[in-house]
Amino acid sequence: MEKKQNFFSVVLLGPPGSGKSAQALCLSKFFQLKHVDIGMELRKVAQEDTPQGKEIYNYMYKEHSLISDEIIENLLQNDICKRSECRRGIILDGAPRRIGQIERIEKILQKQEIPLLRVISLSVKKESLIKRIKHRYFCPRCFSFYIEGKDIQNAQKDLCPRCQYPLMKREDDTLEGVEKRLNIFEEETLPVIEEYRRKKILLEIDGDREGEIVCQNVYEQITLILREKEYENKNTSRN
Ligand code: AMP
Repeated sequence: MEKKQNFFSVVLLGPPGSGKSAQALCLSKFFQLKHVDIGMELRKVAQEDTPQGKEIYNYMYKEHSLISDEIIENLLQNDICKRSECRRGIILDGAPRRIGQIERIEKILQKQEIPLLRVISLSVKKESLIKRIKHRYFCPRCFSFYIEGKDIQNAQKDLCPRCQYPLMKREDDTLEGVEKRLNIFEEETLPVIEEYRRKKILLEIDGDREGEIVCQNVYEQITLILREKEYENKNTSRN
């Protein structure tokens, strides 16, 4: 029987192009937790021909702004966290991104008994972010991301290595879109990171290194924290 006290969640934050999704995917494999990419979940809803789909599409692709806290809360509470694959915990990629989301999200995780263990903040130089986004392509079928020149040779000719579908650019990966999203990150998400620094659950990670090295580094730090927690739990149950 699985022990609920071992269930936990991790939040991953960073500017656009910082490699959040690649890191989340890697960590989700190491810890067998579900990778929840909020941006991708929103992109799926934005494709639907519904009032909510249209509203999200507008925010994401026309205004390049953040979606309302209510929509993020509802999506997480009424859909994502209800999925059986999330019961042991999640690697939450890209939320909370605004101060108002912190408490809402922590409450949901607490209620699901997959409490927030740590928040990882990836920092990457602006030049590297712009370069990565310029060469970034995605598959509209399986929603995987690839960097041209690294994961694929030629985005015009190559098909998605995972599902053999033609690749495309994300509609908001234009220079204007990136600049706007970087500003939003600085104005809205840096205060969130600051709040987690204050709460002493922030891990600040240099994301300007090879992806595998970054992931190994985070894995080691989280493993150490889990061991310490297990030790504390053992001691409290003995007393
Ligand atoms: P991403 O795929 O993480 O770059 O997110 C793409 C877009 O989804 C962002 O530019 C926002 O419009 C929206 N988005 C993603 N996460 C959030 C969030 N936590 N709160 C509000 N909007 C979000």
